[in-house]
Amino acid sequence: MSGGPPRDDAPKVRSDANEPAVTGGETVVPEVAAWQRAADAGAARGVGAAGGRGAGPPWIPASARIPAPVRDELVEWLDAARPNEGWGVLVAARMAEDGGVPERFIGMRNAAESPYRYYPEPEELLRVMLEIDDADEVVWGVVHSHVASAPVPSATDVGLATYPDAVYVIASFATEKPELRAWTIVAGAVNEVGLERT
Ligand SMILES: [Zn+2]
Repeated sequence: MSGGPPRDDAPKVRSDANEPAVTGGETVVPEVAAWQRAADAGAARGVGAAGGRGAGPPWIPASARIPAPVRDELVEWLDAARPNEGWGVLVAARMAEDGGVPERFIGMRNAAESPYRYYPEPEELLRVMLEIDDADEVVWGVVHSHVASAPVPSATDVGLATYPDAVYVIASFATEKPELRAWTIVAGAVNEVGLERT
């Protein structure tokens, strides 16, 4: 599975032309094609570009807390996804901005099957989003791993960041003990969120 030269320009995802329509009734769910377009836009825009939510400054919570059992769960999932990047979502009753704390982690399939990027599997994403919505819960955070680099958002990550209210958690496996850091990514603006140790 491992080995071979690094390639970050060939995600194993279907092209826009082959992408089947996602039929989700009234629920709006980003499709893989949308993620791809967003990723390209983000890469073109570059990390750290000026931006914000509306006319105000970008939303920056001072800190966020991930309970230890939830943290253990996500690290285990991401570890198992190696050598590829893994990802998933953190679910809570309220957003971090409103004092929410993630109650559970839902591990998701990386449709890109790549050590350099992740994409949702559309049907799985739709199913999980409907479940979260039905339970009156929110996507508190989006988690993914970096198998060999620092837990800092890449240009692609910035482009993929379609949840301005979410906390983006990156777990790096470049170190023996996985390192977690958290970020907000709003309209291309990246800000770190302090992760409280629990
Ligand atoms: Zn990343």
